[in-house]
Amino acid sequence: MRGGAQERHPILLGSTNPGKLREYREILGGLDLELVAPSDLDPVPAEPAEDAETFAENASAKARGYAAASGLQTIADDSGLEVYALRGAPGVRSRRFFGDEASQEERNAKLLALLDGVANRSARFVCVTALASPDGNVELFEGEVHGEIAELPRGEAGFGYDPVFVIAGDGRTMAELSSDEKHRISHRGLAGAKLRTRLSAGA
Ligand code: IMP
Repeated sequence: MRGGAQERHPILLGSTNPGKLREYREILGGLDLELVAPSDLDPVPAEPAEDAETFAENASAKARGYAAASGLQTIADDSGLEVYALRGAPGVRSRRFFGDEASQEERNAKLLALLDGVANRSARFVCVTALASPDGNVELFEGEVHGEIAELPRGEAGFGYDPVFVIAGDGRTMAELSSDEKHRISHRGLAGAKLRTRLSAGA
């Protein structure tokens, strides 16, 4: 690892998604842990494949792959947006559904176009967070949040599909919340709170 001796227990945040890395640093803030990103390691571990059919399998595979490559206890999440009218899509393919090259603004616009004129706009965000040790043991933590797809994007905060996801019972989009507000109710915040309790009990 770069940057000299580490005194605190190191845990790898197994993701290259800047939004996820930032959110896990916030959600797990204040714990006596050294949270490292793949890009902090030398050599930088390759991103494990993510081609399973469930969030749990993908999260487990990512966490196990990164833990085996780095020798570090590792957190990885697989998460996504399930839209009822699209029979659960984009779902586990949330990052790739509208094409690998599409920007997030393009993905949001394509999602809104698919739902043009659709009355039932129910959706949920799902997150499965995996904690893996280098020996291959994996623990899973889950969270979800219900809402509906907006008619137009709103808000600047967050990342991904946040500007088009209206939170049930709130009326704001996820991108209109502060980070603290998002973590209190979001799929990742809820899964992360369970992970935080687990990590507080010791490695
Ligand atoms: P993956 O877990 O790396 O396959 O990608 C998850 C994808 O789901 C992200 O790239 C986003 O498109 C979407 N996603 C997951 N969590 C969130 C969130 O908290 N807000 C908005 N979009 C999200």
